[in-house]
Amino acid sequence: MANQNREIPYKIYLEEQEMPRQWYNVRADMKNKPAPLLNPGTHQPMTAQELSAVFCDELVAQELDNEHRYIDIPQEIQDFYKMYRPSPLVRAYCLEKKLGTPAKIYYKFEGNNTSGSHKLNSAIAQAYYAKKQGLKGVTTETGAGQWGTALSMACAYMGLDCKVYMVKCSYEQKPFRREVMRTYGADVTPSPSETTQVGRKILAEHPGTTGSLGCAISEAVEVAVGTEGYRYVLGSVLNQVLLHQSIIGLETKAALDKYGVKPDIIIGCAGGGSNLGGLVAPFMGEKLRGEKDYRIIAVEPASCPSLTRGKFVYDFCDTGMVTPLAKMYTLGSNFIPSPNHAGGLRYHGMSAILSQLYHDGLMEATSVEQTSVFEAAEMFARVEGILPAPESSHAIRVAIDEAMKCKETGEEKTIVFGLTGTGYFDLVAYEKYNNGEMDDYIPTDEDLAVGFAGIPKFEGNEI
Ligand SMILES: *Cc1c(COP(=O)(O)O)cnc(C)c1O
Repeated sequence: MANQNREIPYKIYLEEQEMPRQWYNVRADMKNKPAPLLNPGTHQPMTAQELSAVFCDELVAQELDNEHRYIDIPQEIQDFYKMYRPSPLVRAYCLEKKLGTPAKIYYKFEGNNTSGSHKLNSAIAQAYYAKKQGLKGVTTETGAGQWGTALSMACAYMGLDCKVYMVKCSYEQKPFRREVMRTYGADVTPSPSETTQVGRKILAEHPGTTGSLGCAISEAVEVAVGTEGYRYVLGSVLNQVLLHQSIIGLETKAALDKYGVKPDIIIGCAGGGSNLGGLVAPFMGEKLRGEKDYRIIAVEPASCPSLTRGKFVYDFCDTGMVTPLAKMYTLGSNFIPSPNHAGGLRYHGMSAILSQLYHDGLMEATSVEQTSVFEAAEMFARVEGILPAPESSHAIRVAIDEAMKCKETGEEKTIVFGLTGTGYFDLVAYEKYNNGEMDDYIPTDEDLAVGFAGIPKFEGNEI
């Protein structure tokens, strides 16, 4: 029951019986639906049959479902969620005090599981449907390693084989991530590799490349399509992933509703858009239905600014140009961002759902530089105790900035942000920051033009 007068605890939990039993599909409430995936050869919308060569059947159905507002979470997934969910919604009293702000700050902490991020929420769903279809295994890519770790855990639980293509620079920088994945039984290959046609081609064209998410996706798709009983799974960007991640927003909303709290501003970091899309989903639903209004802010790195500087066009989801085309804000599939330290945010595109919502003026986007991100991360770690992932710290940066604006104006706004994960595997980045060796590379317009030049050109897809 809403009770305005009750003191808000540091952590708001939900009882088991209060946990969501259905995911929320924001597409059902969107007037302008996200554009469909296109076949890159014919430029016609991908059919379920075409998609089922790559993805498992139930996930294809979810990918194409723009109609059903709620989709049941299978009992087995609900049971798995209970092992690490609900994730805490924390009132950042200590941060508020440190900042001296009248703003009320909350964060939803998704780092309380071994994978260290929200990615497990979708990994378990995707592994469940693959198993239910009788598949033998799945392939995927991983950048910073959180998705690969989450998928390895989910596959171990479901009894599925798991082949992970890990972006080479992360594979080398984060050997312990790789070891966690292997502990859960995954087979991990640095990408680009000699094990695929597309990997050999990329290596021939860019000798010595340290890889990118886009390259790793191409390799993982090639192996899935060419191996009997395998399908490909993806940890972000897709509609199905945002659907699964709606658990974050549904729990957040249920917890806030218990205390009658309505956020003014909701903030999340955006790589492919899955945590932000999930966090804001039920709030965006209210906004779309005209019931309530919220400011929703996507935060991206200045070094990989797909929403703030990208083009809203059809583009490939991968560097090797083997995937379907998605209409999204993109920097071009051959854009390789400077090696900044938020690996999970180094993707050239953005979820079609968030791209459409942003295009329609329903959310804002901003970009931040990495030294200011680490400054915020350090302040947060020192007062709130949690060592945040660099990705998550993008949201912390903007939450602090908004709270400081409230200090100037005296407004008591309620700010909610997504704290997507922990930074234990990012200590090389923290070391750089602590040594004063971190730089802020921002691509020039000329740099971006190179990526834009690679966007496929066809009628109706002018940039
Ligand atoms: C992957 C990741 C992100 C970014 O991915 P989205 O799909 O945009 O949510 C953010 N934070 C962490 C900790 C991640 O692992």
